[in-house]
Amino acid sequence: MSEEPADTGADAAAEGTVYLVGSGPGDPELLTVKARRLLGEADTILHDKLPGPDILEEIPDGKREDVGKRAHGEGTSQAYINERLVELARAGETVVRLKGGDPTVFGRGGEEMAYLAERGVHFEVVPAVTSAVAGPAVAGIPVTHRDHASAVTFVTGHENPDKEDSAVDWEALAATGGTIVVLMGVTRLPEYTAALAEAGMAPSTPVALVERATWDGQRVATGTLETIVETRDTAGIEPPALTVIGDVAATRERVVDFLATTEADP
Ligand code: SAH
Repeated sequence: MSEEPADTGADAAAEGTVYLVGSGPGDPELLTVKARRLLGEADTILHDKLPGPDILEEIPDGKREDVGKRAHGEGTSQAYINERLVELARAGETVVRLKGGDPTVFGRGGEEMAYLAERGVHFEVVPAVTSAVAGPAVAGIPVTHRDHASAVTFVTGHENPDKEDSAVDWEALAATGGTIVVLMGVTRLPEYTAALAEAGMAPSTPVALVERATWDGQRVATGTLETIVETRDTAGIEPPALTVIGDVAATRERVVDFLATTEADP
């Protein structure tokens, strides 16, 4: 803590620092050494639910600011979070903005970096294992494989593929022949699997859903482009979950009996 009042925002040396920290997929042992150190050193930790229960329960209540979804379902606004980070740093605090997975993969890390930079607040990004790679991996699915996939795309499933100006070009994705990992893609699974099929992807293409990867109660459900919606419904797969589309999804079958995991079958 600085004894100097940081009145202008220009004197960054007298101010605190904001660390944009990734928690990894949720297993506390997959926190980086640096993330763990910063969680210990932080004056305040702003987080949502995605780091998962095991990591969140380690945060002392006195340091915690939950900026995730409220009981009534509305999230704290990004504008509030941005401003709160600035306010705490200017008060001289060491601030950790803790995010699930890696902070720059669908984590608004970019927006927060830009906001802090514009206001002259010191920050550091602390990268981590993204669930987009770790989730498939712990389910026995490598996102690339010499025989099956020489490219991988991470994509948001949140966009409505029917929307004229959808930011995701599913037709182009279907043509890459690489692995597609969809984040935030449980609800719109029917829409984007249909879009991929329409774009010519084989109905028999293997697909896996990995729910709560590395958390207690991790579950994996597998099917094909044609059957995966039914699989989702039968198994009752819910967010957070990843959808892995491509031939690599079938490698799980060959290794599943030897995977050491706490995973439950759906
Ligand atoms: N920054 C995060 C992603 C944030 S977007 C990362 O790098 O992992 C939120 C989406 O991430 C969720 O909807 C889900 O698709 C995925 N996700 C994050 N953690 C997960 C987990 N432990 N298991 C399954 N999916 C997860």
